[in-house]
Amino acid sequence: MWITLGNIIDGKAIAAKIKAEIKKEAEAYKNERGIPPKLSVILVGDNPASQAYVRGKERACAEVGIASETLRFPSNTEEKRLVKEVERLNKDKTVHGILVQLPLPQGIDAHNVLETVSVEKDVDGLHPYNMGKLFKNENPMFIPCTPQGAIELILSTGAEIRGKKAVIIGRSNLVGKPTSMLLLYRHATVTICHTRTVNLPDITREADILVAAAGRPRTITKDMVKPGAIVIDVGISRTDSGLVGDVDFEDVKDRAGFITPVPKGVGPMTVAMLLKNTLKAAQATS
Ligand code: NAD
Repeated sequence: MWITLGNIIDGKAIAAKIKAEIKKEAEAYKNERGIPPKLSVILVGDNPASQAYVRGKERACAEVGIASETLRFPSNTEEKRLVKEVERLNKDKTVHGILVQLPLPQGIDAHNVLETVSVEKDVDGLHPYNMGKLFKNENPMFIPCTPQGAIELILSTGAEIRGKKAVIIGRSNLVGKPTSMLLLYRHATVTICHTRTVNLPDITREADILVAAAGRPRTITKDMVKPGAIVIDVGISRTDSGLVGDVDFEDVKDRAGFITPVPKGVGPMTVAMLLKNTLKAAQATS
């Protein structure tokens, strides 16, 4: 479908360009308003992956001049304590974005906590109001960061999405479903696959655009990919050999038209979109 095969989409470089723009705007915001845009992150428990993600977000905020704070809670924290903390942050005028790092420990209903986040500060786009707006294609204030980043990477190839067959592996609220919606609004014909999908390879082989978000290391192999397809690997699994995507990169890379690596593919874009959403939240305040 695309003219050359094996093009690697450099998510890190694309994210760096976006961050440079955000930095300029964050500076202008601070000069005008006297305070920087600010993100507050709630981190509960000691999940090593969550801690690493939060460190990455803090670093990225510092790089672009967005203030950030991480509020740490032990894993036995009660849900109502977290809800109270979110309510406090909702009222704090110096805080523009609130992110509750998922997953929350067992026993805490993430929905209750996420629904407490003010719609105007919901930089992860996971509040049911923003989600509902997204699913109705009614201009949500915030779109979840990873799906937004995945779309940017597809667009970076210059390929037309309209009329293409897109296959998404994964139906989570965080990644699979919102990514499917974003592709649908760009007029792709979208198929969503999941654990009960029968004959997955037959479906993925039809995809002009294949988004893998299953969290199953290296399950997408060459025989499952249409020659020339755009392959976006959202999956991140921590293995003994480091971070591994859902796609067997070495096997697939010469068959795909464009492919994202793991790491340095979707991950940096997720963070860039979080920064973008935080800036947007700050700019929207009066
Ligand atoms: P999830 O566990 O909530 O959802 C996984 C989905 O994949 C489910 O809908 C499940 O039905 C489907 N699935 C699992 N195994 C499958 C299989 N063998 N065949 C078909 N479908 C299958 O996970 P999630 O939160 O959506 O995240 C998915 C992956 O993306 C994880 O590896 C996660 O770490 C990663 N992730 C990466 C970023 C990033 O910035 N790169 C952000 C969020 C999530």
